[in-house]
Amino acid sequence: MNFPKQVTMVEVGPRDGLQNETIFVPTEVKIKLIDQLSVSGLTRIEATSFVSARAIPQLADGEFVFQNIKKPSGIRFSALVPNELGMEKALKAGVKEIAVFTAASETFNQRNIHCSIAESIERIKPVMEIAKNHDIFIRAYISCVLGCPYEGTISPQKVTALSEELILLGADEISLGDTIGVGTPKQTQQLIEMVKQSVPVNQLALHCHDTYGQAIANIYAALECGISCFDSSIAGLGGCPYAQGATGNVATEDVLYLMHGLGIDTGVDIYQIVRTGEMICKALGRPNQSKVGKALLGMSK
Ligand code: MG
Repeated sequence: MNFPKQVTMVEVGPRDGLQNETIFVPTEVKIKLIDQLSVSGLTRIEATSFVSARAIPQLADGEFVFQNIKKPSGIRFSALVPNELGMEKALKAGVKEIAVFTAASETFNQRNIHCSIAESIERIKPVMEIAKNHDIFIRAYISCVLGCPYEGTISPQKVTALSEELILLGADEISLGDTIGVGTPKQTQQLIEMVKQSVPVNQLALHCHDTYGQAIANIYAALECGISCFDSSIAGLGGCPYAQGATGNVATEDVLYLMHGLGIDTGVDIYQIVRTGEMICKALGRPNQSKVGKALLGMSK
């Protein structure tokens, strides 16, 4: 199999993960989490979000967190930015990399950010323009690429067209998100093969959720298509195991175990991740959702 020799892991636990956790995590614990992730060998960490405190109370301390984490050289820290106001905060905080977002489903966009796909693009445009003027790297998330909770199936053509549009607008990278974790390996490959025809594969990342237990299989399938950038969340943060319909992000521990087993270099120390996962799970008062995390815990001390 012609797998990439090396992959880049984008750690989204501190933002996408915590955002979807119901228990408020104290600011100092968020900083500790990111600082511990920073010594694991990860090179990309999505640290927080500059959304309104009303929209996402969990990340109301985003600016303070971003300014107070250690920033070792060689690690790219990013923040999610929903609008121009968020972009102003990002600039003040010294952010060099941002993420913007939309979804491939009209209904999901309406329910999530109260606008159509086209309107969401209009919101993103000025943010991208400011980012470009400041030489800031832009990642664009597309949610619901393999299915929508309201619309069901999403056509790969729609995802491809949206990816192409975002790249033309100036996005440096597209992260394809299976937000509700319904995708299967075959569907994942069909989607990537189509998007690849419009966007270079090295500008694509895959963002999996493990709702149906397919995340690792989907990531393996994506490796076969040449994808070499994967989002994951430490300890599977991002879905409460007690809530019905919990839709956790794929756990960083699980992805690392897969990659290392395939002989693919991630540069990440899995044991450091396991220890950090234990720390944040204790703070949240809930078990680690990663089987790998649980299995390796005894060996990581
Ligand atoms: Mg996610």
